[in-house]
Amino acid sequence: MQSNYDKLIFEVSQPGRVGYKLPDLDVEDTALDTLIPADLLATEEIDFPEVTEVDVIRHFTNLSHKNYGLDQGIYPLGSCTMKYNPKINEDMASLDGFANIHPFQDDEDIQGSLRLLWECGGALAEIAGMDEMTMQPAAGAHGEYTGILLIKAYHEKRGDTKRDKIIIPDAAHGTNPATAAMAGYKIIELKSTKDGMVDVEALRASVGDDTAGMMLTNPNTLGMSDENVKEIAEIIHEAGGLVYYDGANLNAIMGKARPGDMGFDVVHYNVHKTLSTPHGGGGPGAGPVGCKAFLTEFLPIPVVTKKDDDTYFLDYDRPNSIGKVKDFYGHFGIIVRTYAYVLTMGGDGLKRASEVAVLNANYLQALLKDHYKLPLDRITKHETIFSGLKGGLSEITTLDIAKRILDKGYHAPTVYFPLIINEAMMFEPTETESKETLDAFAAALIEIAEEAKRDPEILKQAPCNTPVRRPDETKAAKDTIVVYKPE
Ligand SMILES: *Cc1c(COP(=O)(O)O)cnc(C)c1O
Repeated sequence: MQSNYDKLIFEVSQPGRVGYKLPDLDVEDTALDTLIPADLLATEEIDFPEVTEVDVIRHFTNLSHKNYGLDQGIYPLGSCTMKYNPKINEDMASLDGFANIHPFQDDEDIQGSLRLLWECGGALAEIAGMDEMTMQPAAGAHGEYTGILLIKAYHEKRGDTKRDKIIIPDAAHGTNPATAAMAGYKIIELKSTKDGMVDVEALRASVGDDTAGMMLTNPNTLGMSDENVKEIAEIIHEAGGLVYYDGANLNAIMGKARPGDMGFDVVHYNVHKTLSTPHGGGGPGAGPVGCKAFLTEFLPIPVVTKKDDDTYFLDYDRPNSIGKVKDFYGHFGIIVRTYAYVLTMGGDGLKRASEVAVLNANYLQALLKDHYKLPLDRITKHETIFSGLKGGLSEITTLDIAKRILDKGYHAPTVYFPLIINEAMMFEPTETESKETLDAFAAALIEIAEEAKRDPEILKQAPCNTPVRRPDETKAAKDTIVVYKPE
């Protein structure tokens, strides 16, 4: 039987139950329809649930327990950098002076906020080795699109119009080809070598006077940092193209290496990955974009600029700007969180975060590699990819393993991505997790590998402990029922 705590709040409702009582009116009781035109008033009773305070508290507390978040445990989704978002970020973003300003306020009224945008941009430019940043893009993919428009504007201004191709390795994030296509480019896909690197000879053969540029996800979706990254940038530059660095995986290299020093012209951040800030549920995030000095004339307007007298203003006077990419100035509240994180960590802290993130991924890889198939058996960067169970128990799929992980009280890794690895399971523990957490998580995974040998049916039935068992994945995505009608 369904417990009272699994019911909708409408089903818990009992006529006449109330949470609290309003005091008696001590002003004149003006009839509503003298204040609001009659035709705008509801004609039927609205079916609000009638519940007590304790019903409401239990309902929402139980609902929140059906969710899983970073404040509960490890969230090892590869390619997502699900790190803990320190609470001080939230405190800073809710300060009155940041949370309650209006986008139409004059520059003089919001000097502190403009200064924050400028200083945060300066810090991000420094970390990536770029000259100037825009904080406008709303997410990583949006940053890519903005960055590719900078590259397009550069070629167009020079009248170099036959460059219509962007080169993208097959170990790139899926948003890279989507971005290039949206910007109107044709895509040349490069196959990776068996070590997960860009095939430099194939790259040389694919460039020409029609190359607008290249987008490199680095470290790539195999968790590998390309060994020939400088040479790659040089090959593209020699052909007259520009190089774009997908920096969503910067958590692997912060404070260690800078895309700008590797020769890249444009880079985007995923601050909702690398620099904490909330992540999930579709946003909001932010995807600031940095570029080298020769591209700054194309940055989206307005650009926050500092004057000689140490005041700040929103500069709209960039005639070659690609225009606006987001209303107002982007997701300001997220940038406040980003800056709070950067300041609390400091340069050494950010570097240490990357070191521990890489260490944690390699530690987890070492704990699991006797039990799960490791397609690229080498030191990895910030994430590690397995290809199902070791020992060819082919009836057990990655999906079965991922579902069983839920029963053990953990979030599943990314599955079936990257596409170039069969039965992929991609773990990115991040620096947030302690050795003890990783040990316990690995022990759960090893237990699953043993269950697969002993009693594969458990894995086929999993998950057993979740409110929803195994929905038909296609039907759940394509035919979602979001309206529930109680019997
Ligand atoms: C997450 C990710 C993106 C896309 O970022 P969104 O904020 O989800 O748009 C792009 N590239 C890589 C490598 C990523 O991991």
